[in-house]
Amino acid sequence: MNPSISLPDNGRFFEIRFESIGGLGAHAAGQVLATAAVLKMGLNGAHFSSYGSEKKGSLVRSFVRLGPAQRPIRTSAPVETPDAIVVFHAALLRNGATFAGLYRDGTFIYNAPARSVPKELAQLPSSARAIGVDALGIALKEQSRPNAVLLGTLCGAFPFLDAEKVLEALAEEFAGRHPEALAANERAFRRGAEEFETLKGVGRAEGDLPVARAEPAWGFETQPVGGIIPEPGNTVWNDLSASRAGFVPVFNRERCIHCGLCDLVCPDFCLVWEDGEQGSRFERELVGVDYRYCKGCLRCVESCPASAMTKKTETPGLADRLRVPLFPELVA
Ligand code: SF4
Ligand code: SF4
Repeated sequence: MNPSISLPDNGRFFEIRFESIGGLGAHAAGQVLATAAVLKMGLNGAHFSSYGSEKKGSLVRSFVRLGPAQRPIRTSAPVETPDAIVVFHAALLRNGATFAGLYRDGTFIYNAPARSVPKELAQLPSSARAIGVDALGIALKEQSRPNAVLLGTLCGAFPFLDAEKVLEALAEEFAGRHPEALAANERAFRRGAEEFETLKGVGRAEGDLPVARAEPAWGFETQPVGGIIPEPGNTVWNDLSASRAGFVPVFNRERCIHCGLCDLVCPDFCLVWEDGEQGSRFERELVGVDYRYCKGCLRCVESCPASAMTKKTETPGLADRLRVPLFPELVA
């Protein structure tokens, strides 16, 4: 489906899937978009989100389905074959399911620093449109949130989404609860609508991308005996990178006095220690951070008395470059 001024009536709905983590405002963005479409643009629309434990950092998907006013929407199923996917957090690009089901001529909007082209975009269909926008950077500068920026980009990419109407709905959403955020959200939205970069031909896949549908592993004939754990797991396999909202602690060993205060406040035990070197006055020395387990709360930075931990903006690949594995034997 190509962008055009009116919603194309090609027999199916125009479907959008927001891929996000809790705390970045994907649910609110979907709600604002569907509200604007139905109440202000004369379209029919539906919206709902799917999330687990409703905690900051857990996976959230938000679905918006739009159609002409006269066509009823009788499904409330998740959007499996989207015309557009909007990715709120760069870490989600590592999950193949983020790309699932995109049409060959679909649009993939991702949040990443300007001029960065994540290698994961190669999974896209070769005929798809990829659109990058530094939603986090803009949101931080304008004291807004990535959802306002990404809504702006979506409207910029699809002119049939009336940007002024979406902005009105965005203002109404925040007018009651956060009136102080209105001006900042509008600035972020307008920058999102203009400051994006369109890339073509970054994908290598041919045709529509396959749908990711979780089939039930067990039915009445195959379910295992109760009371056993067939696939024992361990929190060692957890990957909390997607919980970070733009910042990482960066460790400077030269400054460290190995006092351990950072380890006392770290909620996820991601700091890596080794025996002190021969002749060192420290029995144990801090050697780095395992970013696999770091959720970017920055308590270590706040508590460090020697400025050995500093807050840095997370750029693509930074955490992978600086990571010191806590369990080297498990690193693939
Ligand atoms: S709090 Fe600072 S000085 Fe102390 S161990 Fe941690 S990084 Fe080093
Ligand atoms: S930011 Fe620091 S305290 Fe927070 S999880 Fe990461 S290493 Fe631990």
